[in-house]
Amino acid sequence: MTNPSSPKPDQGVAVLSVVVPAYNESEGIRTFHEMLLIPALDEMREELSRLGQVPYEVVYVNDGSSDSTLAELHALADQKENIRVVNLSRNFGKEIATTAGIEAATGQAVVMMDADGQHPPAYLPEFIRLWQGGAQVVVGVRSNDAGGFFKTQGSRYFYRILNSISDSQTVPRSTDYRLLDRGVVDEFLRLGERKRITRGLIDWLGFRREYIEFEAPERLAGEATYDMRKLVGLALNSFTTMSIKPLFIFGYLGVMITLVAFITGISIIVQQFMMGDPLGWDITGSAMVGILVAFLVGILLIAQGILAVYMSHIYVQAQGRPLYVVDRSSSRNLAR
Ligand code: UDP
Ligand code: MG
Repeated sequence: MTNPSSPKPDQGVAVLSVVVPAYNESEGIRTFHEMLLIPALDEMREELSRLGQVPYEVVYVNDGSSDSTLAELHALADQKENIRVVNLSRNFGKEIATTAGIEAATGQAVVMMDADGQHPPAYLPEFIRLWQGGAQVVVGVRSNDAGGFFKTQGSRYFYRILNSISDSQTVPRSTDYRLLDRGVVDEFLRLGERKRITRGLIDWLGFRREYIEFEAPERLAGEATYDMRKLVGLALNSFTTMSIKPLFIFGYLGVMITLVAFITGISIIVQQFMMGDPLGWDITGSAMVGILVAFLVGILLIAQGILAVYMSHIYVQAQGRPLYVVDRSSSRNLAR
């Protein structure tokens, strides 16, 4: 049975590209490359050779490391021409480094993974199997917790909030360990957002997806650069790039405050001043000032909410995402 979406051999230079962003990974990068990545790729060599001339390439992106990562990568690349190094001029952060690597990749399928061994290359054959079975995006999902009470709980709430406010759905614990078909890569590269969360953009793109559960081991060496502070920043970026709803929260709050203050105020006026306080509320002057202030604050928040609506239009326009994404592999007789 031939799958209509299976890649044709001429759609890329390499069959599989592995994109690996690396920031200060000098201690573990050689072990990662020689002990984990290359053995896994060589195991698939024959299978990949059937799909094209160059079975695989590895694209390392040195994200402005301040240690000897670049020298280590040069040493690896000097041995083989299918090991490539993109050297960024300074540290741009993982999301952008990954994008740079995807752009440099030539493969019919592109897999991105971390350089620290936490995305085990041993799962690569499974990614390829699902891709060959017709999946256009294969997402690695961590089966174990991120480690630590706060990280674990934080990640639970993160996905809950993200999925309740954004248009696309993100599977909890899904990671950046992902395979993208060339068709998805081409669409991904058209997205020009500066503030970007790679995972979020891929989820927004859609396409046929499959999931692989994997157990993330400890880092090979060194420390994770994403500490609590950075993770909170990442979460905020995810919420605000994937959804405009946070802008409206205070507008809704304003509507509620105004309504409550208005009803309370009217009741007091009617009951106490027009009917002579038959219920004996005996509301004091300062309490009434309080209600008036609440009413005015509510109005201000509503005004902010209205501004937020306009801002959200500008924001969406400025993000400049395509209106829709066509899956060319399964469309028929398109003019171009
Ligand atoms: N990384 C990067 N640029 C950065 C920070 C990290 O390219 O500014 C890379 C890092 O080398 C690793 C991956 O992104 O390959 C994940 O980083 P890390 O292990 O620190 O994060 P975590 O495991 O917490 O996701
Ligand atoms: Mg890591």
